[in-house]
Amino acid sequence: MTFALHGIPVSKGIAIGKAVLISRAALEVSHYLVEPGKEEAEAQKLLDAFEQVRLELDQLRHGLPKDAPQEMAAFLDVHGMILADPALAEKPIKLIRTQRMNAAWALTTELNDLLEQFAEIEDAYLKERANDIRQVAERVIKALNAQKKDSSLTGADLLSPSELGVESIIVAHDIAPHDMLRFKESAFTGFVTDLGGKTSHTAIVARSMEIPAVVGVRHASEMIRHGDWLVLDGERGVVVVAPDEELLAEYRKLQGQGLKEVRKLQQLKHAKTETLDRVDIDLFANIELPEDAIQAVKLGAVGVGLFRSEFLFMDRNQALPDEEQQFQEYRRVVDLMHGLPVNIRTIDVGADKALGSSGLDVSKTGTSPLGLRAIRWSLTEPEIFLTQLRAILRASAFGQARIMIPMLAHAKEIDETFRLIEKAKQQLHQRGQPFNPNIQVGAMIEIPAAALVLPLFINRFDFLSIGTNDLIQYTLAIDRADHAVAHLYDPLHPAILHLLASIIEQAKRANVPIAVCGEMAGDPALTKLLLAMGLTDFSMHFSQLLLVKREILKANVGMLKARFPRVLKAYEPEAQAKALERLLA
Ligand code: PEP
Ligand code: MG
Repeated sequence: MTFALHGIPVSKGIAIGKAVLISRAALEVSHYLVEPGKEEAEAQKLLDAFEQVRLELDQLRHGLPKDAPQEMAAFLDVHGMILADPALAEKPIKLIRTQRMNAAWALTTELNDLLEQFAEIEDAYLKERANDIRQVAERVIKALNAQKKDSSLTGADLLSPSELGVESIIVAHDIAPHDMLRFKESAFTGFVTDLGGKTSHTAIVARSMEIPAVVGVRHASEMIRHGDWLVLDGERGVVVVAPDEELLAEYRKLQGQGLKEVRKLQQLKHAKTETLDRVDIDLFANIELPEDAIQAVKLGAVGVGLFRSEFLFMDRNQALPDEEQQFQEYRRVVDLMHGLPVNIRTIDVGADKALGSSGLDVSKTGTSPLGLRAIRWSLTEPEIFLTQLRAILRASAFGQARIMIPMLAHAKEIDETFRLIEKAKQQLHQRGQPFNPNIQVGAMIEIPAAALVLPLFINRFDFLSIGTNDLIQYTLAIDRADHAVAHLYDPLHPAILHLLASIIEQAKRANVPIAVCGEMAGDPALTKLLLAMGLTDFSMHFSQLLLVKREILKANVGMLKARFPRVLKAYEPEAQAKALERLLA
């Protein structure tokens, strides 16, 4: 039966394909086809993992202290029984033999099927057993991952389109940003998640992959079944499950129109970025991985306005990159940008971005957006911060690498940051390694407190960049990754407009370069509004560059500026809508 689910559109385009349900456990595993002839070895791997978990459970059971609560022993017994049931391994082994799925993938597929069956059971006790099955399966997956020394998902592990045979759309409860990034090389053509907000980092990465995505589709992972046909409309935030032929035809037509529009936009690639009244505008790119710079240059970006360096640190299966590895990555971006500026944003972990596990107390950063995030965390880990600063400084000897600091609010944080930058310079000097001693240092303005004391930042930094994603989150007091408050995430809230206009105006007056690098900069519906505020530097993901450029080419800044005060004065929604309509006319 056809039905539609609604969520938050985060990455436009239309995807049509079969649902691939990815459980939380499945996100930890690779999906690949084993080579023909290796099926039996793969099946044996699964059986070995089962045996290993059986031994672990036995050990745990026998090692229980005498005064351990009875439930503990009962719990281990239940898990032992589940593991001993031959049915749990039977189907995955069949999938390995007939479909050449790798062991962990086969097991998670079976797990999904079982969980689905359990979801239909009324009996509360039996329903609870679903959790036990999940936990047992996760133990086996862990054992499988341990067998494979480096279990990180690489491009080679992922399915290629020909292997999948049919377009596939991922459906998951939630996907962490770095997991999303790992899908970059894969053949999946769309994403649906139960959780998430428009500017969550997962959404940002999905957009950067130019793959249609809808997040915050509550219960999607429960209502959609593995293998269901789906139409995903990333523009309107709709997911149609089991579409009929008529609907499919309609969406295929829309898909075709979208592709035509993309081709048309390409013609703007070489046009000068200036408004009708000849105001030059600079379009920079936001990147997550060094190779994104290739596309950025192709699409005419005049630099990298934001390199989210933390994505180099977030693979939980890898050790944190050392100075040399980081230097190579930064240098790569600098080289790819051929002398254009590259703002390397120092590591911004915490909140919805967890750190890689190796050797670090991951729990320290926490998941609260008000917690130990970004520069706050870096300042508590001076050695890691110094390592990153040295790597950026070394890259500055090869091009225009610049340092950009996220989430500053306090003067003492600024002092400490500059002290460490100086120390990193001294260390390189002592080693005799080259760097640009006049490297530019910029600050992100993304905490309202920073916006409200802008002269402090204007006096101390070479350039500023407004992170509207966080500025909105913190000004409106809503977690940007929480779908429950996603409807309150409003870039047009008068408080936001006032803050933005004031920051841009003050920085311009002081002659300090000011950019916007949050998602607002890449939203073509907001381009004219930002131009009206006097913004001339926009930084966005490269997939948005030409869309924003098209708006710029049609804009008259003089006229926009003249009409803008009315927008600022409109506090009531109706008055604001009218003023905006006039502005954009
Ligand atoms: C922002 O906050 O707007 C920003 C660009 O940084 P991030 O989205 O990575 O927090
Ligand atoms: Mg931010």
